[in-house]
Amino acid sequence: METRICPPTEENLRLAGEILRAGGLVGMPTETVYGLAADATNPKAALSVFAAKGRPADNPLIVHISDLSQLPGVVRQVPERAKKLLSAFWPGPLTMILEKAPAIPAEVTAGLDTVAVRFPVHPVARALIDAAGRPLAAPSANLSGRPSTTTAEHVLHDLQGRIPLILDGGPCQVGLESTVVDLSRGPAVLLRPGGVTREMLEAALGEPVALGKGVMEPLPEGEKALSPGLKHRHYAPRAQVVVVLGGDAARGAYVRAHAREDARPCALCLEKNRGLYGEVPVLSAGSTPEDYAHNLFAALRAADEKGYTRVYAEGLDLAGVGLAVMNRVERAAGFTVVRLDDAKEDRA
Ligand code: AMP
Ligand code: MG
Repeated sequence: METRICPPTEENLRLAGEILRAGGLVGMPTETVYGLAADATNPKAALSVFAAKGRPADNPLIVHISDLSQLPGVVRQVPERAKKLLSAFWPGPLTMILEKAPAIPAEVTAGLDTVAVRFPVHPVARALIDAAGRPLAAPSANLSGRPSTTTAEHVLHDLQGRIPLILDGGPCQVGLESTVVDLSRGPAVLLRPGGVTREMLEAALGEPVALGKGVMEPLPEGEKALSPGLKHRHYAPRAQVVVVLGGDAARGAYVRAHAREDARPCALCLEKNRGLYGEVPVLSAGSTPEDYAHNLFAALRAADEKGYTRVYAEGLDLAGVGLAVMNRVERAAGFTVVRLDDAKEDRA
């Protein structure tokens, strides 16, 4: 199968809608990362998403809607807390886990009786859902386990020959996947931090939001995952990622010393810290935590393209979007985290 990258013209959106209604797959830009979209009401289409990505069969898909009127077709009921969050953050980068409606097949939810649902703000994503005339199931458009895709070219790199069409909406604005919050069992539990931060959720709900077990640390052996995605390796480039936490001087010294042992090391850092790493080549994370989020996956892919074998990634404070950045980068590192303050190295 030939894979085409197309601009999101009216004609291409109509064509993409036809492909989706016929059970095919389309690469779709969203404000978070690119999605691999399929008709969320078609079990066979959902199964072909898993096949195209090589995604583990137990990891459910997120269902995307373009209008609140589609919500009753996706979820059985909308609890009060969900109403508060949807009026504060939809359309936008927030996914809610709620009880599933019968129209969503078990193939989409990997057999769970809950469903992940999101209303994206990206105009092309919304136009594509409208063109298909039904909700779209869409995980991130990368090969399973690899960094998510934030440009149409990255989607092509991973899925060439596996899907007919990618709509090119330019680089994704947020750069990290949506925030996932479970509202199916009462108080909100944060299962994946993202652009809608924990602080923002707490302000909208007027109560604390718990962080799910296994979100910011490896899931203990034998523990049941609150979200199937927590069990699997994610976001990893071929290069070994090492997260380095600690003060500027200690971090710089650590990376300069250890980089000598590596064949092709590099540092992933904020612009203001470039000078700390001496001869070690730098991949820029930009100037702010939001830039780091925006640049992270492209930087991990660039590390592989440039042939780096180890990426020393700077840690961020866990406030705001820093929690989401650290969640992705620690997972990309398989939780290989060096904490220089207590001179301890954790390897999971
Ligand atoms: P992605 O496919 O990369 O967009 O990731 C979707 C994330 O949402 C994965 O971590 C899934 O495990 C999680 N998810 C989807 N549906 C559910 C659900 N019903 N319950 C818990 N987590 C879910
Ligand atoms: Mg993914």
